[in-house]
Amino acid sequence: MRAPKKPVHHRHSASSKASIAEVLLDWYDANRRDLPWRAKPGEAADPYRVWLSEIMLQQTTVAAVAPYYRAFLKRWPNVKALAKASLDDVCGAWAGLGYYSRARNLFRTAQVVATEHGGKFPPTAEALRALPGVGAYTAGAIAAIAFGERVAAMDANAERVVARLFAVDVPLPQARAKLAELGLKLVPEQRAGDFAQALMDFGSGICLPRRPRCGDCPVSKSCTARRLGIAETLPRKAAKRPRPLKRGAAYVALDGRGAVYLERRPEKGLLGGMLQPPLGEWGAVFPARERAVGEAPFTGTWLKKPGFVRHGFTHFELEMEVYVANFSRRPNGEGMWLGSAELTRAALPTVMRKVLEHALDEDVPLFAVR
Ligand code: SF4
Repeated sequence: MRAPKKPVHHRHSASSKASIAEVLLDWYDANRRDLPWRAKPGEAADPYRVWLSEIMLQQTTVAAVAPYYRAFLKRWPNVKALAKASLDDVCGAWAGLGYYSRARNLFRTAQVVATEHGGKFPPTAEALRALPGVGAYTAGAIAAIAFGERVAAMDANAERVVARLFAVDVPLPQARAKLAELGLKLVPEQRAGDFAQALMDFGSGICLPRRPRCGDCPVSKSCTARRLGIAETLPRKAAKRPRPLKRGAAYVALDGRGAVYLERRPEKGLLGGMLQPPLGEWGAVFPARERAVGEAPFTGTWLKKPGFVRHGFTHFELEMEVYVANFSRRPNGEGMWLGSAELTRAALPTVMRKVLEHALDEDVPLFAVR
């Protein structure tokens, strides 16, 4: 998101003796983004709202998070209300935001705060880090924004700005500790929360990843990377290894009324505790037809849909062929049968919704395999 192009009349500029923090705070006062979770100028920030938005924003964009944030806040307006929800309801409301471990940690943290902290978030970054799913950045952001603690909140924006200001050319992730140390030195005694948000907005509006707008930058005179002409190359990143590809089959069993058979995944591990249609083993190639039918959860007439469903996880890519079978009488299994209304509300991860959409898409014909 680009910051609005308002004219900025700096009380401080980088050519005066003002610190980088003072200049960035001036810039922020004139250009701050109006975000649904952000307190208005002069208003105290609500720790619950800051925490909720920061967990949602992990690996997700502001635009994608906004409707989820509003829906969560309407349904669970405070941490005690969220602690009383069910994990299935929280995961269901989370569906589409990805990385379900975040939803589970959100729920666990709400319970810890409600039961162990009397419904109040602990006020320091160190104590916040003990909460499930709260890492160094998130703890710093909540502590600074909601409690004014003088700590750095080093997200990707802040890391980029600091790497450029000080021309740190060690690649990430090795550079992380150094950037955090330099970032902390920038944080002012007063307005630590505004400064954290200033870095976020400045990084996403001026000091852009690929094309930093150095001509519009109020701290350009203090920026070593600009002086050296290397701003666009920073921060350096260690080369990524390609993600491995896994392939397998998914089985969508339907009863005579269109209900779908689903199982719950184990609590620990990938998509822990979430619902899914039964899946076969994953390997380097799709299973041959005999093996695929042999891995199906019930004996029946399994028909394969053409094509496959693809989904990217953090550490691998997954492709699944989808097999469908209709049963006039429900076969016995340890899972559950859900009708269309229940499916809409169910805690189904995006990848499994893709499988069901593919299975139930009437425009895609079925091929008999047995
Ligand atoms: Fe970023 Fe350019 Fe400003 Fe340096 S001069 S902080 S690279 S926008």
